[in-house]
Amino acid sequence: MSLNAESTAFRSALEVIRAVEPRVADAIGAELADQRESLKLIASENYASPATLLAMGNWFSDKYAEGTVGRRFYAGCQNVDTVEALAAEHARELFGAAHAYVQPHSGIDANLVAFWAILADRVESPALKKAQVRQVNDLTETDWFALRRELGNQRMLGMSLDAGGHLTHGFRPNISGKMFDQRSYGTDPATGLIDYDRVAEAAREFKPLILVAGYSAYPRKVNFRIMREIADSVGATFMVDMAHFAGLVAGKVFTGDFDPVPHAHIVTTTTHKSLRGPRGGMVLCGPELADQVDRGCPMVLGGPLPHVMGAKAVALAEARRPDFADYAQRIVDNAQALAEGLLRRGTKLVTGGTDNHLVLLDVSGYGLTGRQAEQALLDSGIVTNRNAVPQDPNGAWYTSGIRIGTPALTTRGLGVAEMDATAELIHTVLSQTQAGSNPDGTPSKAKYVLDPALADKISKQASELLTGFPLYPAVDLG
Ligand SMILES: *Cc1c(COP(=O)(O)O)cnc(C)c1O
Repeated sequence: MSLNAESTAFRSALEVIRAVEPRVADAIGAELADQRESLKLIASENYASPATLLAMGNWFSDKYAEGTVGRRFYAGCQNVDTVEALAAEHARELFGAAHAYVQPHSGIDANLVAFWAILADRVESPALKKAQVRQVNDLTETDWFALRRELGNQRMLGMSLDAGGHLTHGFRPNISGKMFDQRSYGTDPATGLIDYDRVAEAAREFKPLILVAGYSAYPRKVNFRIMREIADSVGATFMVDMAHFAGLVAGKVFTGDFDPVPHAHIVTTTTHKSLRGPRGGMVLCGPELADQVDRGCPMVLGGPLPHVMGAKAVALAEARRPDFADYAQRIVDNAQALAEGLLRRGTKLVTGGTDNHLVLLDVSGYGLTGRQAEQALLDSGIVTNRNAVPQDPNGAWYTSGIRIGTPALTTRGLGVAEMDATAELIHTVLSQTQAGSNPDGTPSKAKYVLDPALADKISKQASELLTGFPLYPAVDLG
């Protein structure tokens, strides 16, 4: 019997790699086996299609292509132009954006491109105009130093980390926190929801240059129309980082006030989370910021990755198909079924539920820290990550929360029935795990006690749950 195209492609690739460094070929094979076995609930991960994966393994990787389509600093970029133009066109059509810049290598890079585009538009361009010169090289030393000081003295208002915001939205460990004077808005302690009046108040007091919306651990929709009104009321540029929920925007689950594209001045995203593309980033904007955004490379990016841009074009073409909208809706249906299953078993959830792809468990009710819960679940074949909850008493390292998401399991085909079974497995592990103690008898935030036989039993049940839903069913590595 002849092998299908996917199996032939991956088997041949591994054979070629194995001839040079067999340990890499083995690790690639082992990674597929591990991913096939585990119940992956990491909210930021997914499984890209074989076509998307295969588009990355080729000689496009060898090409330098600084510049933009048709305006390169290197010769011989005609084929890179083809794939970059295709990726940008699919992105514009999919999201209804005037402009798409598909070069960012990651979500962090996309944010840096956006920040510098905004700084160039709002701070540098007016300074050049005032000095009556065309580019920074033409500024006098004095004007240049004044501009540098001004660029480094701008303000950003974003969502606080413990409410679900992202490190790249102006927090100190990230370069954005060193670039900007940052203040953040949190969520209402009683409901866990964004309080738009408080955001407006913070904006009025702080007068930020940039208002950022977007999150990696907030389980609810954000009203981008209201956020834009707040930005407009203080003259801020409104940026949305949809890294986590781009797939829900692409699949038209988030529409109207909840679709960031018509409301934001600029939108950034990753392409590998709910959007299910290759590991990378992207920026969408209107015509006003397009020229500045296109300067991302070499402003903050190294040479573009043409092989990844080719894969972005493939994945975005997939996301434009009608079945992607169905996929996006099933992500949310599954997250809500998982949330309901957990609530029914007494688990505490931040905001009491979800209307996107993620659920945030407050595991303090089980007497555990996020770290203990994360490890106990991992021992039981359930892959999640710990995450702070609002006003977390255990801080960002140990935390009191577990973040789970459904994009990956939904790609595998699991549905609401399996989500209830998943809730049962999670609840069983957490309710059977005890917090451990240090050698001196004080309570530990990391140690825990879980009967290995139970962990084993749950692992088996987790893989049984997956047996009807093969991962990469077309790929048989032999
Ligand atoms: C994941 C994420 C990023 C960073 O993406 P990378 O590709 O890991 O750089 C940025 N912003 C948000 C909101 C994210 O969730």
